[in-house]
Amino acid sequence: MPELGPSPLAAGHELPVDVARARVLASLRPITDRETLPLGRALGRVLAEPVISPIDVPAHDNSAMDGYAFRGADLASDRDTVLQPLADTVFAGAPTSPQVPPGHAVRIMTGAVMPVGLDTVVPIELCRVDAAGVHIAAGVLRPGENRRPQGEDLARGKPALAAGTVLGPAEMGLVASLGLSELAVLRRLKVALFSTGNELRTLGQPLDPGCIYDSNRYSLMAALQRLGVEVLDLGLVPDDPAALNATLDRAIAEADVVLTSGGVSMGDADYTRDLLAARGQVDFWKVAMRPGRPFAFGPLDGPGGRRAWLFALPGNPVAALVTYYVFAREALLVLSGATPRPLPGLRARSVAAIRKRPGRSEFQRGIVEPAEGGGWQVRLTGAQGAGILRSMAEANALVCLRHDQGSVAAGDEVEVWLFDGLR
Ligand code: AMP
Ligand code: MG
Repeated sequence: MPELGPSPLAAGHELPVDVARARVLASLRPITDRETLPLGRALGRVLAEPVISPIDVPAHDNSAMDGYAFRGADLASDRDTVLQPLADTVFAGAPTSPQVPPGHAVRIMTGAVMPVGLDTVVPIELCRVDAAGVHIAAGVLRPGENRRPQGEDLARGKPALAAGTVLGPAEMGLVASLGLSELAVLRRLKVALFSTGNELRTLGQPLDPGCIYDSNRYSLMAALQRLGVEVLDLGLVPDDPAALNATLDRAIAEADVVLTSGGVSMGDADYTRDLLAARGQVDFWKVAMRPGRPFAFGPLDGPGGRRAWLFALPGNPVAALVTYYVFAREALLVLSGATPRPLPGLRARSVAAIRKRPGRSEFQRGIVEPAEGGGWQVRLTGAQGAGILRSMAEANALVCLRHDQGSVAAGDEVEVWLFDGLR
């Protein structure tokens, strides 16, 4: 197991977000177990090996337009070209195509195989047809245009998709275009999820005085489902060492990852810290970020020598989700075997000033919208407390204010991560 170094919490200082992120990512090992799936069931899965194209796509030179096919050599550059049309039309999917002599053209449809010797198509809207033939005005077309060459999309024997690719709609179509009906994918990462806290109630239970509903399990479950991992929902665990230990044993026995929220702060009723610390090399970090300071990560020991990766997120609902996006999301992709890509972000002008002190990262909730006169602007949503989930539900983006950054003036550009990009 990797050496994660002494706990910075013990040393009493806060860890910058980038340092904490790098530590998490540096110690992970992706799963390697694979399975074979029919293409139709592979959406969202990770390729276990590259997909090598067994054929050229397209398999033949073909027409990119509806029009007339002819020889590019017949095209005059200084005057109109007149070609003699054949009576035939070449349709897509036709098994044979006609012989077309020089000086002639044949009507052709998009996707139809180019007849032998022909290399150019004039789109129907760029020519004029009368009794004298097919007229192409000088200068409207160059030889070779509107022809899709064989193998243009994918060449036979070449990798069409790399190992680690997550299969999305375009990848599904691409694999189908190769005629492949099955794929080798990695098994899905399994994540055990539970919430801790005596004050929590599950949906359907009455809300006793002083209690709140467990919302984190639903926001985190949704985030995990979007990520495409398998979720083992272990429900609510009270702040009780025996219950917590039993749940951890089960989580480690059945899952690759244990994702919890609550109980990692310094609160009196939080036993989670001590229990986790007793299992393996979990590190407790006080991260220099807002929201979401406490965060624990590391390998957890379970029964029978099993190990699982722990991500223990803070309990405050906004902090739980923000720390998930900042630390857990990319790490789970890496563990899944996916080639991680940085979150798609953009820069937007802040409508108002934002107070921020250097020395910690802040993730505020904002609404990004098109600015008058082009570009994007962002305004913060209401109260930004770590427990105010409404600020996040109203937002469509996280405004990311970097560690060293100070206050933002109205009109300054800030970095934003769009929730819709936060798969
Ligand atoms: P903790 O990190 O356990 O000290 O919790 C911090 C705050 O988040 C407390 O106000 C908790 O009541 C709240 N909290 C913890 N877990 C959840 C949860 N699963 N759903 C909603 N709120 C929670
Ligand atoms: Mg708690």
